[in-house]
Amino acid sequence: MAFEGLAARLQDTLTKIRGKGKVSEQDIKEMMREVRLALLEADVNFKVVKQFIANVKEKALGQEVMKSLTPGQQVIKVVNEELTALMGAEQSKIAVAQKPPTVVMMVGLQGAGKTTTTAKLANHLRKKHNRKPLLVACDVYRPAAIQQLETLGKQLNMPVFSKGTDANPVDIAKEAVAAAKAEHHDYVLIDTAGRLHVDETLMAELQDMKAAVTPDEILLVVDSMTGQDAVNVAESFNNQLDVTGAVLTKLDGDTRGGAAISIKAVTNTPIKFAGMGEKIDQLEPFHPDRMASRILG
Ligand code: GDP
Repeated sequence: MAFEGLAARLQDTLTKIRGKGKVSEQDIKEMMREVRLALLEADVNFKVVKQFIANVKEKALGQEVMKSLTPGQQVIKVVNEELTALMGAEQSKIAVAQKPPTVVMMVGLQGAGKTTTTAKLANHLRKKHNRKPLLVACDVYRPAAIQQLETLGKQLNMPVFSKGTDANPVDIAKEAVAAAKAEHHDYVLIDTAGRLHVDETLMAELQDMKAAVTPDEILLVVDSMTGQDAVNVAESFNNQLDVTGAVLTKLDGDTRGGAAISIKAVTNTPIKFAGMGEKIDQLEPFHPDRMASRILG
């Protein structure tokens, strides 16, 4: 379950303060010490933890008394608000081009869930937004990746633009956008190549593709189970490509939550979707407020 470990620890800590009719500075200090440990154990970036604790302390100590809540509840409300703000405050939606098609490049390391997420996103766009996406297979280095996307396309009964493994990925992407225009697709979802590590060749190819198709959205797919590594990966991709959003995959298995809580604050990249399982319909728009409530119970 997502955030299970972190949620249990934080809820435990907050329960102690919830019913309190009076909350002293000492109470808040003690509580924040425990919250700090819980966040660090959940693999949240240490700078993010430090700033978070400082913000909560300042607000909790300085806040006005509200009649409807006990002082303990008010402190918890501050924690909830700050956690929501940390994860991006508002829900960030996927781009819509003024003139269709909206071009989306899906980028990320191999194994992060890029191909699966590309298909999930296509399904989401059709089901929830009545869109007509074109899937594009640009991972020419791994025949299995092309096959995987084609299989997913069949399963969804959606076309997949593919030129096999011999063509140049930048050319494939350009041709796919032209084909999408001709065939009136309103979204083009490009599944780009991934590698085991961030490397220059990969980045150069993605930069060339970005220059060639001027995407409306570059979505970085990261595996939330990798914790701070996911944040580092996000930083590298963002430095090189200016990504416009992140998709956190495998949140269903991430009991810690470090990546989900740190990515926005460290890279200023909004989390737009979360992968909640292997199935095609297990992709959810990311709502920071709902995530915070899930963590705090
Ligand atoms: P790619 O190499 O980045 O294209 O990764 P794939 O799309 O092939 O996914 C790698 C593995 O992660 C596959 O076994 C997927 O089923 C799995 N996967 C992807 N997203 C999720 C998710 O949100 N939750 C879970 N549990 N598994 C996922």
